[in-house]
Amino acid sequence: MSTFSGDPKAFDVDTFTGDIAGSCLCGNITVTIFNKPNLFKERNGHQCFCSNCRKFSGCSGSNNIVIGKDHVRVDDPRGPIHTLPTDDADDFYVLPLGIFPRIPAPEFELFSAHKHDWQAHNEGVKRYKYMSSSGEMG
Ligand SMILES: [Zn+2]
Repeated sequence: MSTFSGDPKAFDVDTFTGDIAGSCLCGNITVTIFNKPNLFKERNGHQCFCSNCRKFSGCSGSNNIVIGKDHVRVDDPRGPIHTLPTDDADDFYVLPLGIFPRIPAPEFELFSAHKHDWQAHNEGVKRYKYMSSSGEMG
């Protein structure tokens, strides 16, 4: 029988002290979220079902976190990053949570109106019709 690595439950959130590192698929780029001890104690991050996120992720939506740049370190020792998705006017990043060993429970979802009929609703997750300014769905 095969064994598979990558079970997120293998990352024990009870031992989490505030730092978590993730990487891209090839492992050349590491992203570390630091000094966020409540990352798993509170709902964090969000899911988005807009067409950009579907295309970008190649999936039915994306799991992201909006987080202050002062809590993020990007290590690119071999230099494959040619352009950073930065807008110096922004003091935050939108990070894809799938790069980390475990994903915190989402706080809200965007573009709920664009979910497929077969997609379930996660209990306790606020659902915005489109962006948060568009208001919550019932
Ligand atoms: Zn989106």
